[in-house]
Amino acid sequence: MKPAAFEYHRARSVAGAVELLTELGDDAKVLAGGQSLVAMMNFRLARPEHLVDITHVTDDGALAGIERRGDALHVGALTTHHAVERADLGPDFRILSDAMAHVGHLPIRTRGTVGGSIAHADATAEWCLLAVLLDALIVAQGPAGRREIAAADFFHGPFWTALEPDEVIVEVVFPRPAPRTALVEYADRRGDFAIAAAVVDLDTDRVVLGGVGAVPVRLDTTTPDQAADGLDLRDEPGVSTHYRRGLVRTLVARARKEAGSR
Ligand SMILES: Cc1cc2nc3c(=O)[nH]c(=O)nc-3n(C[C@H](O)[C@H](O)[C@H](O)COP(=O)(O)OP(=O)(O)OC[C@H]3O[C@@H](n4cnc5c(N)ncnc54)[C@H](O)[C@@H]3O)c2cc1C
Repeated sequence: MKPAAFEYHRARSVAGAVELLTELGDDAKVLAGGQSLVAMMNFRLARPEHLVDITHVTDDGALAGIERRGDALHVGALTTHHAVERADLGPDFRILSDAMAHVGHLPIRTRGTVGGSIAHADATAEWCLLAVLLDALIVAQGPAGRREIAAADFFHGPFWTALEPDEVIVEVVFPRPAPRTALVEYADRRGDFAIAAAVVDLDTDRVVLGGVGAVPVRLDTTTPDQAADGLDLRDEPGVSTHYRRGLVRTLVARARKEAGSR
């Protein structure tokens, strides 16, 4: 299928993108890798009248690239999943590159971006789970300048975030090393979104679960039974509550074991 008609705008700077978004209002959407937005437009699940393409922004080095600053890792919003997958992030942040193998297929990873995943806010998306687990800060630029939003406050529901329509994510900051972490998930076919996913940090004794609610679910335990038993789940076609709870239990146990071996 083809998308409904829209007008294309190419931003050359972050400030220019923000200006366009402010001027065009709710009918405009940022276009990054297009791997979620264009698919939704083709299925007519999204019908923006204007697309503001930020992939040609050249004024701001922070938009693409990965930089270690002290304890923190700064990942530019336009950094692709594949760039992170290929980066040598050392033991402190290898969880980020390891997790990328789970994101769709290679062609998707070469175009899809970190900022796009976070803004899209799918509750099973690897970047969303990692951001919540590792207390990431989402840095957004709007008409009033830049602000930092804690990942814990960012995700409000499927495809619904704390971002204002005239804000652009410029980078995601992971503030501290996370050497004893692991992400494990299950999907029916390789490359599909996971039915359930668990990402564990043994140093903070936390797990974040995907596929069990409208947003990533953070729990202050890494004990598989405790994590699985307290979940408020619903039967879905092909995935019963019983099945998903068992899956979560297994995934948490595996993630814990893998994190422990780091
Ligand atoms: C077949 C298939 C399988 C996939 N499997 C997975 C998977 O297993 N795990 C996974 O996590 N993802 C998966 N994806 C999605 C993929 O990761 C996308 O790359 C990602 O969700 C969106 O990134 P994007 O750069 O393509 O954003 P786009 O599609 O361009 O945009 C997505 C949304 O984010 C907004 N947006 C984008 N960038 C910004 C920004 N900087 N500031 C503000 N708003 C912004 C857009 O307006 C839009 O609403 C899959 C996609 C496909 C097609």
